Amino acid sequence: MRVLVVSDIHANYTAFEAVLEDAGKVDAVWCLGDVVGYGPDPNACVELLSEQPNLVCVPGNHDIAAMGKMPTESFNGDARTSLLWQQRVLSASSMDFLHTLSQIEEPHESVTLAHGSPRDPIWEYMLNTLTARLNFAEFETDFCFVGHTHVQSMFVLDAEKDRISLEIPHVGLPITLNGRAIINPGSVGQPRDRDPRAAYAIFTPETRSLEPQRVEYDIESVQARIREAGLPEKHALRLSEGW
Ligand code: ZN
Repeated sequence: MRVLVVSDIHANYTAFEAVLEDAGKVDAVWCLGDVVGYGPDPNACVELLSEQPNLVCVPGNHDIAAMGKMPTESFNGDARTSLLWQQRVLSASSMDFLHTLSQIEEPHESVTLAHGSPRDPIWEYMLNTLTARLNFAEFETDFCFVGHTHVQSMFVLDAEKDRISLEIPHVGLPITLNGRAIINPGSVGQPRDRDPRAAYAIFTPETRSLEPQRVEYDIESVQARIREAGLPEKHALRLSEGW
């Protein structure tokens, strides 16, 4: 089974389309949340996502706030401006889709999905090995895919040495995962690891093979739509910087 793993699409339709095309034919799509927020195309992204084969998706903090289920005061000024805009433009069918999502999913016997972390799916940022260590105790499967930090990376647990290492995988180089790992495929619509290309991963559970990928997309057209919609300039600029 060839699975496309995506996260933090953030209403960036052009990036999402480029990822789907680059990934080619897949048997399933797993999405780690923040489908909306920041970008100019929330409804188009929800629609395209919901058409994907064997889709399993968990919600992110932006999705939950856009549904009105979290006070927008929890977000900083620019993110809040964008969220209020998303709330205004989200269609009834987009809202319905977001409402169906559960915070934790197990789409395969070896895989857990959560937006932030398994112990705090909505808010926790998996940024260091201490946070990773605390979270390895919070899920039963070998692998947990998370998003939220917008950084393509993974935490690998060496059970024998009881050591956890943070690894930045090489783009386009498939690796076979031994032991347990917490894996972030990176962000489709707003990368923050100084590489502006859209990020995703291809995962094959049967062979435990992971292939981190990046793909270029037409950033300028997305920036133009952000400006047209009157969304914060910062959210346009950061796309070309990859932060
Ligand atoms: Zn996000």
